[in-house]
Amino acid sequence: MNVNLNVNPLESWVKTKSKPLVIAGPCSAETPEQLLATAKALKAIDKVDVLRAGIWKPRTRPNSFEGAGSEGLQWLSDVKKELNMMIGTEVANPQHINEALKYGVDVLWIGARTTVSPFSMQEMADALKGVKNVTVLVKNPTHPELGLWIGAFERLNQAGITNLGAIHRGFSTYDKSKFRNVPIWQIPIELRRVAPQIPIICDPSHIAGKRELIYEISQKALDLNFDGLMIETHITPEKAWSDADQQVTPERLNEILSDLQVRVASTKDKEFNDHLDDLRKKIDNIDRELIEVLAARMAIVGKIGEYKKENNVTTYQVKRWDDIMKNRAELAKKMNLNESYIIEIYKIIHEESIRKQTEIMKSVESKA
Ligand code: PEP
Ligand code: MN
Repeated sequence: MNVNLNVNPLESWVKTKSKPLVIAGPCSAETPEQLLATAKALKAIDKVDVLRAGIWKPRTRPNSFEGAGSEGLQWLSDVKKELNMMIGTEVANPQHINEALKYGVDVLWIGARTTVSPFSMQEMADALKGVKNVTVLVKNPTHPELGLWIGAFERLNQAGITNLGAIHRGFSTYDKSKFRNVPIWQIPIELRRVAPQIPIICDPSHIAGKRELIYEISQKALDLNFDGLMIETHITPEKAWSDADQQVTPERLNEILSDLQVRVASTKDKEFNDHLDDLRKKIDNIDRELIEVLAARMAIVGKIGEYKKENNVTTYQVKRWDDIMKNRAELAKKMNLNESYIIEIYKIIHEESIRKQTEIMKSVESKA
């Protein structure tokens, strides 16, 4: 994938108090009192860079609290003046953008349900054309399609927005899971590979759905070198009008942030780097051997394919496949490897073997 973006580094749009960048505040702005009390408590812990509060809430079904609307923007703007904090909210259409900018919102974020729609994204990008001094964060789309996420950045970039950041908030799933939205870390990691300039923030609140998981998800994100965290924080979480189960108190946020281990992405320490180089060379050699072994395996698969064709036997044989899965899983266990990891690898190996044998069947047929 060819991705060419012009993105300012995080430091140019917010002077973070320390790494990681912290965005915190209630899921929704409910009343001026709730917002101000939460903001004051967050200001007091002195670790929060941007105050968040949802003003327009995308609710799955009607008849639940859909946000305070423009009135809430006045509360946010009052808090910004009183406490001198940067403020951020979710926008989902051009009117939201215009309103939010009128009230001096510093950070706009685009929610998962909007990133998923290229039409909405284009309308939003058009509304942002020529707007200066605003930061736009884009949450991943609800389903794991990296292209849509990148497309959103490209549309915003073409509208001249360069203060950009990504938010990983997990993906919807139909399967049973301990998460509300399952984190698929490979997707933000791939985003980092194709567009390394984009700062990436993790939203453990919407991944978790419950406050007990916030700490471990945040630590995982930092271990993967994410640049920031967005954590829903409410002065009385259990009384929140939306997402009550996943919000934490400002005191708990303070504890979480103090307990998190922040690791460095690299160091100049010579001894460390030499040792890491040695270990990486070993990995490179093992990977070469792995690929040689896979090539040798594939050569045998080819021979079997030809042999099956000559004897008019089907490519796929259930019994054999079943035996392989059982035997390889047992071997994995003996070697202290995660069984499901080896099973997943074998599914891919088997799929490719079938593809190869089917190709052989076809090529022999066309010669006949
Ligand atoms: C939110 O941050 O309040 C929100 C609605 O998030 P998401 O778009 O991730 O569901
Ligand atoms: Mn929420």
